[in-house]
Amino acid sequence: MLHAFPVPAFKDNYLWVIDDGVYAIAVDPGDATPVIDYLAKNALTLSAILVTHHHADHTGGIKALLDWSAPNVVPVYAPAADPIGERTHAVGDLDCISIRQPDIALRVMSVPGHTIGHVAYYAPALRWVFCGDTLFAGGCGRMFEGTAPQMQTSLARLAALPPDTKVFCAHEYTLSNLKFASAVEPNNIALAARIERETKKRKLGKPTVPSDIALEQSTNPFLRWDVADVKRAAARAISIPGDGADLTPAQVFGALREWKNNF
Ligand code: ZN
Ligand code: FE
Repeated sequence: MLHAFPVPAFKDNYLWVIDDGVYAIAVDPGDATPVIDYLAKNALTLSAILVTHHHADHTGGIKALLDWSAPNVVPVYAPAADPIGERTHAVGDLDCISIRQPDIALRVMSVPGHTIGHVAYYAPALRWVFCGDTLFAGGCGRMFEGTAPQMQTSLARLAALPPDTKVFCAHEYTLSNLKFASAVEPNNIALAARIERETKKRKLGKPTVPSDIALEQSTNPFLRWDVADVKRAAARAISIPGDGADLTPAQVFGALREWKNNF
């Protein structure tokens, strides 16, 4: 039985640790100290590191974690197209990774946009996806290196995973994302209910993640480029007359992303 734990770090990062009670995989260890504390406290042996993209808050702890794990050699799976110095295994779209301890099979999905090389790791048997800074609970990452069509295509691939897939994103941005979502879709009932639930979790100091694909599809405006209300709001945001019915998914996405940047 595998377990995934969000190790909090920095202001709002979650450094995910996947473990079977004995062996552990660290996902995006931006800081080594809290991950080492968690591993030590639970007597876990680190067996692999997975990296979604090159930003420092996702990679800054890799070296210290490898040093801590020595003499065990820990493979570092990281996207081929992002600059990541500690990478030992370059991964790209549709690669399959089999780790034996803990026992997990992952499929790599190329999801460019936030960075050019950004990947997500999907475990089909568990229906878990580790998506870094691409899809967030209620929102999505900024486009630092990619274009709106690229990012929209990446999000569409994630949205096409089975609806019960759990979404393990890398930041606790949910409440501010949902505030923007309700500006886009003030009449979305599922969204209003979600805001209530997530607000309660945060008041109790609990994480709002993981979420799941079905919830994201019903409440995350960045996956809702086909919804009439969202198209209308996107058209308004970029001052296009009419109801936005003719906008492409990438145009709707691009308009929302731009609006959110200034929200
Ligand atoms: Zn990032
Ligand atoms: Fe980040």
